[in-house]
Amino acid sequence: MNSSRHPFRQSVRPLVGVPSVRPLALPAILCWAMAQPTFAQRAPAARATPLEAGIDKLATHSTLASAFAALERDNAWTLEQQVALCEIPAPPFKEQARAAAYARMFRELGVQQVRIDPEGNVIGEIRGVRPGPTLLLEGHLDTVFPEGTNVKVTRTGTKFDGPGIGDDCRGLAVVLAVARQVITQKIPFAGRLLVAGNVGEEGPGNLRGTRAIFASPLKDSINLFISVDGTGYGITNGGVGSNRYRVHYKGPGGHSYGAFGMPNPMHAMGRAIAKIADLEASTTPKVTFNVGIVSGGTSVNSIPFEATMDVDLRSETAAALAEIDGRLMKALHAAVAEEKARWPKSTAALSVVIDTIGLRPAGTTPDSSLIVRTSLAAARTMNIYAPLQISSTDANVPMALGVPAVTLDGGGLGRGAHSLDESYDDRTDGFKGPQYVLLVVMGLLGVK
Ligand SMILES: [Zn+2]
Repeated sequence: MNSSRHPFRQSVRPLVGVPSVRPLALPAILCWAMAQPTFAQRAPAARATPLEAGIDKLATHSTLASAFAALERDNAWTLEQQVALCEIPAPPFKEQARAAAYARMFRELGVQQVRIDPEGNVIGEIRGVRPGPTLLLEGHLDTVFPEGTNVKVTRTGTKFDGPGIGDDCRGLAVVLAVARQVITQKIPFAGRLLVAGNVGEEGPGNLRGTRAIFASPLKDSINLFISVDGTGYGITNGGVGSNRYRVHYKGPGGHSYGAFGMPNPMHAMGRAIAKIADLEASTTPKVTFNVGIVSGGTSVNSIPFEATMDVDLRSETAAALAEIDGRLMKALHAAVAEEKARWPKSTAALSVVIDTIGLRPAGTTPDSSLIVRTSLAAARTMNIYAPLQISSTDANVPMALGVPAVTLDGGGLGRGAHSLDESYDDRTDGFKGPQYVLLVVMGLLGVK
């Protein structure tokens, strides 16, 4: 394999460039491959921009070329870390055991100043050879799975099954694999690479880990932010904001027959849900609403004293989110008024209490920003298709603060994130995930 100079281009370039090969003469599998976006992306070859040419050149730097080869050769190591981390439970707010293991892994690689901050984030650093920007590269430690979930990973060929194996044990493993190569290949980069495993990315965590980092003294020195979260290839540069509430309808409750005639908190909540279901929501910008959990009541023949629901609102713009939030609040209060009006003779109280369980800021890193253009250029160099996406990730926090931030997927093929059937398939080219992240990171920091 002549991969030392152009490590990513072995099989694709010659096909595109050889005029005597007519598509009809190609085996079916190659025709199929050429029809896929990843392959079609570069044919006909567009003239490279200066940034793209720079990333092409960077990929041939001797230390990076060695790193790319090592990531492919030592792919089993990356997968071992991914499985080992996944088998340590990390429910929301209970990431300590996995954090301790991750800190140990960083130390074993030679990452400097590894510490666990007061919020529970594992942070370490790798210093470059000359002054330059500081880039924070993180994956999230937490899962959505409660304590007691069986997190054992089973392997079938290149496919791994286990809750959290993709989201985000893949990200954690990619960050480790990148750190390992930066250190062992002695890549002469500028600035400082902070590597982290952060807590609290998933729902109830409300981005608390990344928020804590950006509320700490570190925040003033972070110039660039990359979270590795998820599988496949994608560049998330739009941060979906969300407002999440736990809504309680409360009253005295009573016997369903004997006390009949008083406002019923469950019925009030039903009215509220009907109003929420009928909310108008725009598609541009995208706005969504969801009642995700309902609970309450004690028995079929009791008027409940409490009914509770969790509501999630989301949008990619702060203005649209604020707008639908206003309509939700109106609906929640109107439901109380209507349920009371249904029983005008009753003096029983009925109230609504709204607890905020999550506020995630909306934000965007512009398509024209250097971090997005570098991420796209690295995908072009590697001949992978990495579309721009909008999602809700740790990058929301720096985006909302105006710090250039993206979330990159970690390669491979993931299925069933947030479900007990979650799987990750490394297929034949999972190693391209860490290769891609390494190229983006070094493209941003700069290599001598
Ligand atoms: Zn995730």
